Amino acid sequence: MVDYNLLPYQKELQDKAVAFTKEHITPYAVELDKADEIPMDLLQKAYEAGLMNLHVPKEAGGPGYNLLDETFVSEATGYGDAGCATSIMCNNLAFAPLMVDATIEQLQKYIQPLITGEKVKLGAFALTERNSGSDAGATTTMAEKQGDEWIINGRKCWITNAAKADLFTVFAQTDPKLGYKGIAVFMVPKDRGVEIGHIENKIGQRASNQAEVIFENVHIPEDCLVGEVGKGFHNAMKTLDKTRAGIAAIAAGVCQRCVDEASRFSITRKSFGSKIAKFQGIGFMLADMQGRALTAQQTTRYAAWLADNNMRNSTESAIAKVVASDNAMQNATDAIQIMGGYGYAEEYGMGVIFRGAKLLQIYEGTNQINRLVIMGNLKKRAKTLNTGFKLNYEGIDAPDHTWAPQ
Ligand SMILES: Cc1cc2nc3c(=O)[nH]c(=O)nc-3n(C[C@H](O)[C@H](O)[C@H](O)COP(=O)(O)OP(=O)(O)OC[C@H]3O[C@@H](n4cnc5c(N)ncnc54)[C@H](O)[C@@H]3O)c2cc1C
Repeated sequence: MVDYNLLPYQKELQDKAVAFTKEHITPYAVELDKADEIPMDLLQKAYEAGLMNLHVPKEAGGPGYNLLDETFVSEATGYGDAGCATSIMCNNLAFAPLMVDATIEQLQKYIQPLITGEKVKLGAFALTERNSGSDAGATTTMAEKQGDEWIINGRKCWITNAAKADLFTVFAQTDPKLGYKGIAVFMVPKDRGVEIGHIENKIGQRASNQAEVIFENVHIPEDCLVGEVGKGFHNAMKTLDKTRAGIAAIAAGVCQRCVDEASRFSITRKSFGSKIAKFQGIGFMLADMQGRALTAQQTTRYAAWLADNNMRNSTESAIAKVVASDNAMQNATDAIQIMGGYGYAEEYGMGVIFRGAKLLQIYEGTNQINRLVIMGNLKKRAKTLNTGFKLNYEGIDAPDHTWAPQ
C-alpha cells in the first residue's frame, strides 16, 4: 500500500522551508541574482533555520534527515530561486560522498565542527576539471602518499561555493595507469593551503557561485582519505545516484513556480476583451505545465524514497533528474510565452527563472549523460527479460556487407 501522506516531522520541515522561501528567497531572487555572489546572509539564515547539512547523522551533530526529507527543502527553495536553492543544498552535495564511505569518527572530526558552530560553514564537492566534465573518470588531479600524509596537486573547476568553502571533497587520481580504478576521495580542509582561482561568470543561477580550485602541494593527514583507494569513481557514481534527486527537487520547485506565475497572470491579463485564461490555447498550456510539475515532483520523491530504503535507484534518479529538469526548462519557456512581453521583460523576474532552469539540465551529469545511465541499465535488463512473447529474432541480424548510411 502506498502512503502519500507526509509524516508529521516531514510536514513540519516542508512548512518551514516553504515559509523560509516566501520570506527570504522569492522577494529577493532578482536582487540576489544581480549581486552574483554567494549569498552568505541568506545561507546564515538557512543554517539557523535548520535547512542545511540535512543528511549528516545525529552522531556527528547533524539532524539525520533522509533523502526524501531533503527533497522537500530543495523543492521549496527551488520554487523561490534555483540559484539560492543550489547554494543552500551545496553542503548536502559536498558531504554526500562522506555519507557513502566515511567512518563516523571521520565525520565527527571533520564535519561536526563545521555544522555545529554559530556561523554557517560551507563545503564544496570537487569532481570536475577543465578536461574531465562528463568523463569524470579522466580526473588528473593527483594524490600521492608520502609517509603518513597525502599530497594533492591539480585544479578543479566549476566548484559551487568554493570561494567561501572550508572543506573540499576532492576526487583525485592515485595511479594514472589504473585509470578510473585509481581514483580516491579525500577531505581537504581549506587551511591546508587550497587556493581559489577563476570565478566563473554565468548567465543564470547567479545567486550561486562557482570557482576554480587550485591544489599545489597541499598536504593532508592520511585520515582525510575517504573509503578505499581505487573506490573513488564508484563513490562518485553512488553519490550522484543520491544527489540527483536533490537537483530534480529544485527543478520540481521551478516547474510549479512557473505554473503558479503563469496562471496568476492568466486570470488577470485581458486580451480581446477576456481574461486570457479563458482561451483554450492558454488553458491547454497551463494544464500541460501542471502535469509536468506533478511528474517532476513524483519521479523525484520516488527516486529519493528508493535510496532511503536501500534499493538501487540509479535508473530512477537519472529519470528524475532528466524529467524534472527538462520539464522545468519547458515550463519556464511556456510561462514566458503565456506572459507575453511581460514575461520577456527583465523587470518582471521571469528571466531569472528561465536562465536558472537551463542549468538544471547541465550540472550533476548533463541530461545526455543521465540518459546514458538509463540506457545502460536498460540494456543490462533487456538481456535478462523474458516477456513470454514468442518472436523469433534469429536471422534478422543484417549481414556485414549490406548498405549502411554514410
Ligand atoms: C553552474 C555549475 C555548477 C557546477 N557545480 C559543480 C560542483 O559543485 N562540483 C563539480 O564537481 N562540478 C560542478 N559542475 C560541473 C558540471 O557537473 C559539468 O559542467 C558537467 O558535468 C558537464 O561537464 P562539461 O561542462 O565539461 O561538459 P562536457 O563533458 O564537455 O560535455 C559537453 C557536451 O557534450 C555532451 N556529452 C559529453 N559526453 C557525452 C556522451 N558520452 N554522450 C552524449 N553526449 C555527451 C554533454 O552532455 C554536453 O552536452 C558545475 C557546472 C556548472 C555549469
